[in-house]
Formats: sequence, C-alpha cells, structure tokens
Amino acid sequence: MNKVHISIAIDGPAGAGKSTVAKKVAEKLKLEYIDTGAMYRAYTLKVLEKGLDPQNKSEVLSLIDDTEITFSNNHIYLDGEIVDDKIRENNVSKNVSYVSSYPEVRKKMVELQQKMAENNNVIMDGRDIGTVVLPNATHKFFITAKPEERGKRRYIELLEKNHDDLNLSEIIEDIKKRDEIDSTREESPLRIPDNAIVVDSTNLTIDEVVDLLIEFIKGDNKIVL
Ligand code: C5P
Repeated sequence: MNKVHISIAIDGPAGAGKSTVAKKVAEKLKLEYIDTGAMYRAYTLKVLEKGLDPQNKSEVLSLIDDTEITFSNNHIYLDGEIVDDKIRENNVSKNVSYVSSYPEVRKKMVELQQKMAENNNVIMDGRDIGTVVLPNATHKFFITAKPEERGKRRYIELLEKNHDDLNLSEIIEDIKKRDEIDSTREESPLRIPDNAIVVDSTNLTIDEVVDLLIEFIKGDNKIVL
C-alpha cells in the first residue's frame, strides 16, 4: 500500500474543543498541529496594541504587509515575540471575528497556512480548513457542541488560568456573537465542508472525541500510519 500525504481538517464553532482534540490527535499520530485561530488572534492583538479599530477595515489592513506570524516549538510568534498567552485575552477574543472577516487578512493567512501544509503531514483546525485552506484534505471533521456547553468549557478554562471577573452568561453571549459573525461573513464563512464527518461533542469527553477521530482516520484504508 502506498503511503500518502496526510492532511486532516478540523472545523467548527468557538469552544467546541477543536484545538485540544487536534493537539492530542497530532501527538498520537505524529502529525504537525497548526492552530489557524491563533494566527487571526495574533494579528488582532497587533491591531489592538497599535490602538487601531478592529471594525475599521482600512486601519486593520494598514498593518498587513508589515506583520510576521510564525510557529516554532509550539509557540506562536508575532513579529518575533512569543504571544501564546496574550492572544487568549478577552479583548482579543471579542475582536478577532471582525479582523478575520476582511478578505485581505484571510488571503494572507490562508497562503501561510497552505505553505505550512505543503511538505508536512498536518492536522489543522479553524473555520475554513476543509472548505478553503485544504479542500483536498485526506480527512475532514466538523466538531461542534451546544453554545451553553461551549460557554461552560471556556468559563472553566479561564477560571483555571486565574481570570477573575468572569460571567458565564456573558461568555456564552460572546461565543454566540462570534459564531454569528463567523457564519454569516461573506468571505469563507464557517460551514460544514462537503464530505466532513460531523461530531457533536456536547456529551463527549475530549478523549472520547479523540478516539472517535482516530478510529475514522485509521479505518480509512488510504492511510498507512
Ligand atoms: O479557533 P479560535 O476560536 O481561536 O479562532 C478565533 C477566531 O479566528 C474565530 O472566531 C474566527 O473569527 C477566526 N478564524 C477564522 N478562520 C480560521 C480560524 C479562526 O476566521 N481558520
């Protein structure tokens, strides 16, 4: 049997567990994990740090040719600085969907992502991976969960990071708002890719979702792992 290049696309709404699942699958199957949301977050961080308005297109685009976003040793770098924690701040979460709605921003990120996938076996998570970034992915998954459950997970994650001043219903509302912007934007809206396997993780643990994905991936006789 021939060994083929593996590319696994994971799409879905905010807080569905995509990145945790993707990281674990990457570890088990020795794939490179690429967190595309982190890239949009890093660019949003830069917009905010420069004091620009995320809802003003020309202000957002003014930085596009002067920004470097890279991954190395499981860290994300923005213009040479590690920004793993800063990109998870609430202010970034609240504004990232505006920044990621501009076609010029998406074009730049998609080009970078496709380049990263060119010569590697990858698992990539985001909103447009199976539809736009890797339309020929060997496997496509769409992981979702009820908004209330996704909000609860996000709330617990922030609590564990010692954030105070947390309000669960506000977090659920923010997640719903982000879903709405991501699903209704003109450019590459979030949708279930053709032929994707849909996994509702509302009542599943992370490990159950990981096992389910691996079962599908290994069950596919195109792949030798
Ligand atoms: O995955 P995460 O929640 O970190 O993504 C943050 C935001 O980045 C999403 O809500 C979406 O607006 C944007 N995004 C995107 N396309 C991707 C990944 C993320 O538009 N492939």
